[in-house]
Amino acid sequence: MIHAPISEELFQRAQHSIPGGVNSPVRAFRAVGGNPRFMVSAKGPYMFDEDGNRYIDLINSWGPMILGHAAEVVNEAVAKAIPNSLSFGAPTRKEVEIAELIVSMMPSIEKVRMVNSGTEATMSAIRVARGFTGRDKIIKFEGCYHGHGDSFLISAGSGAITLGVPDSPGVTKGTANDTLTAPYNNLEAVQALVDANKGQIAAIILEPVAGNMGLVTPAEGFLQGLRSICDKEGIVLIFDEVMTGFRLSAGGAQQLYGVKPDMSTMGKIIGGGMPVGAYGGKKEIMDCVAPAGPVYQAGTLSGNPIAMAAGMAMLTYLKEHPEVYTQLEQTSASMVAGMQQNMQQLGLNYTINRVGSMFSIFFTEQPVYDFDTAKASDTAVFGRYFNAMLQRGVYLAPSQYETLFVSAAITNELVEQYVQANFEALQEAVQG
Ligand SMILES: *Cc1c(COP(=O)(O)O)cnc(C)c1O
Repeated sequence: MIHAPISEELFQRAQHSIPGGVNSPVRAFRAVGGNPRFMVSAKGPYMFDEDGNRYIDLINSWGPMILGHAAEVVNEAVAKAIPNSLSFGAPTRKEVEIAELIVSMMPSIEKVRMVNSGTEATMSAIRVARGFTGRDKIIKFEGCYHGHGDSFLISAGSGAITLGVPDSPGVTKGTANDTLTAPYNNLEAVQALVDANKGQIAAIILEPVAGNMGLVTPAEGFLQGLRSICDKEGIVLIFDEVMTGFRLSAGGAQQLYGVKPDMSTMGKIIGGGMPVGAYGGKKEIMDCVAPAGPVYQAGTLSGNPIAMAAGMAMLTYLKEHPEVYTQLEQTSASMVAGMQQNMQQLGLNYTINRVGSMFSIFFTEQPVYDFDTAKASDTAVFGRYFNAMLQRGVYLAPSQYETLFVSAAITNELVEQYVQANFEALQEAVQG
């Protein structure tokens, strides 16, 4: 049993001055029981908490630390940038270089604007799509999370489901009315919405591989089908690649599946651990953005030199080392194969979804292909499983409705430790 009295004490203290004791709801352990661990440092595959416990990290800051923690290439770039001042509020060479790098890596992007978070990226992309088309409505998918912008907190995934507030108070009816929702992987539902709102849909936005209701893969033909609906109806297709960009391949899900959206949003890995987001797409659309065009979007710290140094180092490394993706695929495949073997031995038949280095186990025997099927998972079993893994030194996302992110720092030896922990934790979790 791992003890964490210092974390406990900090969490009690935190609740007096921070809502719920955390600065982002997904960090709380409300869905799994217990209190969050307060971290002090991390290196490679490991995180260390205030109490000196060591964990194998399978969240990796919710994606960004794809090379493992404190990767030298990134840290060195940051250290080198710091003496030159933390911010200018004026253009820098690095912003040109990172824009060119992103354009060279993401197949559909011709121009790109840097922002400070994934939320800013999606909010801005939607505004631009509306400005470009002169239309108001958007279609999103149930269980997809696109950050905490008002338009997206309708049937949203991630922390919004975990805490049972799928439709947040504070979002006005007007905003909610402009957001139409369809079940993931359901082209007929999308077509019906488009038909019922002829000429009014500005954009269809989705996670091309959904990671915020647990991992849900796009069915064969789903992304292509959306592409052709958008082409026919003059709708802007937006891939929210905040999670999948630079993770599923150097060119994201759009490269993996060979479907080009009109716009893409990015975040997480793009900052190498610093707060960075970006949105980009076709020239004609991006030229609507101020000061080139009339759609306003700005940011005091956007393109921040330290953040750009980190992002530039991370993206350059990933572009120049395609073997990272081969290794991530192998590592993740053997983790999942080990879990399948464990289940076979234990007579269990739960569903595991995986694409590349993202995967989730759902505590249901039925296939999971959308939000409703994801919600069939037994979250009480998940809670016990999560805590059993934590006790064995494996740090998972504290919610059923999240994906795990494998980093390149996970060695074969750690895969074995993970698979062994999984065996014991599954056994404990199903016993109840
Ligand atoms: C994390 C995430 C966001 C929000 O990014 P933040 O940096 O947390 O604002 C948006 N879309 C997707 C798909 C995400 O996974």
